[in-house]
Amino acid sequence: MKPRIPVVAGLFTEDGGQARLLGGHCPRCGAWFFPKQWSFCRNPHCTGVTLDDAELSSRGRLWSWADNRYAPPPPYPARDPFVPYGVAAVELADEQMVVLGQLATGTDPERLSLGQEMELVVEPLFEDDDGLHTVWKWKPGGGS
Ligand SMILES: [Zn+2]
Repeated sequence: MKPRIPVVAGLFTEDGGQARLLGGHCPRCGAWFFPKQWSFCRNPHCTGVTLDDAELSSRGRLWSWADNRYAPPPPYPARDPFVPYGVAAVELADEQMVVLGQLATGTDPERLSLGQEMELVVEPLFEDDDGLHTVWKWKPGGGS
């Protein structure tokens, strides 16, 4: 079996089979950030100078989505030939944050509805001799 390699290190985990985004949480004002990116709080009304490492909710509500049928212009990389893909913006309730991601493989954008529950998954984005290069995606459902 090929190794699974995150496309960008440090943004997500799939330890124990559970996909999770890795962000930051300000212990002073309670704000959440994804990606964590910097070590200080970016809330302009907060003087927090540290952020705790935090795993974000793996479920949220569909806030918006798009069916992308055109390859991005250079310098952005695109598969050749281009394969259309869906993009979802999912709102995480606890974090009061919207996180973008591709729609999971097999998701039909025509069957999505605003506000429906979405679940975070980690899937291969592409494959090469080194292994499966993975990224987080959004999948409909997730039960309860
Ligand atoms: Zn803060």
